[in-house]
Amino acid sequence: MSIKVNQETCVGCGMCVNMCPDVFSLNEDNKAYAISQENTECAKNAASRCPVNAITVEE
Ligand code: SF4
Repeated sequence: MSIKVNQETCVGCGMCVNMCPDVFSLNEDNKAYAISQENTECAKNAASRCPVNAITVEE
């Protein structure tokens, strides 16, 4: 299982952090990163809504 954020494409909109605060956080460069590999359901929902498709969830 793996939840990843492509830091090159993330635009720092914060949507995934708002949706899944237990899974994602924003770093000092305003890029999201995974703080947990759990709650893949929420992560998948966030992935489907990310405006730049920066989130990948593999199970
Ligand atoms: Fe970055 Fe996508 Fe999360 Fe927005 S929703 S902060 S673009 S990973």
